[in-house]
Amino acid sequence: MEKREMLYEGKAKKVYKTDVDGKYIIMFKDDATAFNGVKKGTIVNKGIINNKMTSLLFTLLEENGIPTHFEKMLNDREQLVKSVEIIPLEVIIRNVAAGSLAKRLGLEEGTKMNKTIIEFCYKKDELGDPMINEDHIYALDLAKKEEIAAIRDYSLKINEVLIKYFGEREMKLIDFKLEFGRFEGKVILADEISPDTARLWDAKTDRKLDKDRFRRDLGDVEETYIEVLSRLEK
Ligand code: 5GP
Repeated sequence: MEKREMLYEGKAKKVYKTDVDGKYIIMFKDDATAFNGVKKGTIVNKGIINNKMTSLLFTLLEENGIPTHFEKMLNDREQLVKSVEIIPLEVIIRNVAAGSLAKRLGLEEGTKMNKTIIEFCYKKDELGDPMINEDHIYALDLAKKEEIAAIRDYSLKINEVLIKYFGEREMKLIDFKLEFGRFEGKVILADEISPDTARLWDAKTDRKLDKDRFRRDLGDVEETYIEVLSRLEK
């Protein structure tokens, strides 16, 4: 397996072609951004932690029947994945009100809700990833009805598996963002699951164990990423 030219550089990852058909390599960077790139910084060794965490969680999800792009970890910062075509949606799953939902609806962070919420955002940095609904998705042909049905089913199943897994490790899964891609005609989970893309609170103290520590200048950012990985590896 040989790494070939870079296909894409995002805020937290680079994607490379390989000499094998249908396989890409993803490299996880330490770069951290917030508020759509307005705040920039580095979280030392974040790339290593997010690579490990995503590998661990995607393996767990595969074991629970969720198809993912993950193939194997190659080294500290790189993993081999299936070469999906990313569906340009950010799928946000919310169990507890926090972040932009709390702000938009005037709710206190931590407010319990009667139901898990799934939101869709149009993945477009220059627009700040605006929230859209299923009508927009079909009107703009971003995804087909069957694909959205699969994305909803997988998202709820992933939520169930992760709530249990994090719960057993003394963490509450408040909300998280998923991205899906198309591979050989099917929808599969892509991207990453890490403290960059999920809000995790300590089960006893509600201490924030995620990227909000960087976004909101709460301190102990690196230590917290290490802490989450060590809890997950238990
Ligand atoms: P919110 O909409 O409250 O800012 O984010 C909801 C959840 O989705 C959070 O767990 C957050 O980390 C994740 N999320 C939403 N948009 C993005 C994004 O553009 N990048 C990353 N890394 N995570 C996001």
